[in-house]
Amino acid sequence: MSRPTRSNDWGFPRWRSYGASREATQVRLCDREGCDAPGDRPAPKSPNSPERWYFCERHAAEYNRNWNYFEGLTAEEAAKREAEERRDAGGFAETKHYGWAGPGDGTRSRDEMRALEVLELDPDVEFEAIRTAWRRLAKENHPDVKPGDAEAAQRFHAIQAAYDVLKSAEDRRQWRPD
Ligand SMILES: [Zn+2]
Repeated sequence: MSRPTRSNDWGFPRWRSYGASREATQVRLCDREGCDAPGDRPAPKSPNSPERWYFCERHAAEYNRNWNYFEGLTAEEAAKREAEERRDAGGFAETKHYGWAGPGDGTRSRDEMRALEVLELDPDVEFEAIRTAWRRLAKENHPDVKPGDAEAAQRFHAIQAAYDVLKSAEDRRQWRPD
């Protein structure tokens, strides 16, 4: 079977072979401009959009931190969306179901994973640490501390929404018998 070959660098998304040439596997590259790391972390291009960017671990974290995933949502709306997503996924292995290639115990939804990124936390963190990080970041970005800082205000909003997502997920887990 012979096919015309074309450069891997042609077009978008970009692909490249990784590993020794003989057993090289084709991997999609990070969508961040200029980054040649494998892009295996999907991130929605906008809230509720099926379109995805694919970033490397570092740029996925950067993207999630710098881009307000919860923008336009109130904390209640973010928590509600998270609850619906969890319910629709059947409550089992949501991260696998949605192809999230990141670390984690497989029990966190996409919104929880993003909420954790907003709070700069690892997936396996205890809830107490979530509360601590939320307090710290909310304080740092609070409008009283940074008056007139639009970026800080946006971050403050995202931090609140992220905490609410994680808090309601935690509350639901408390109800679930083991
Ligand atoms: Zn990257």
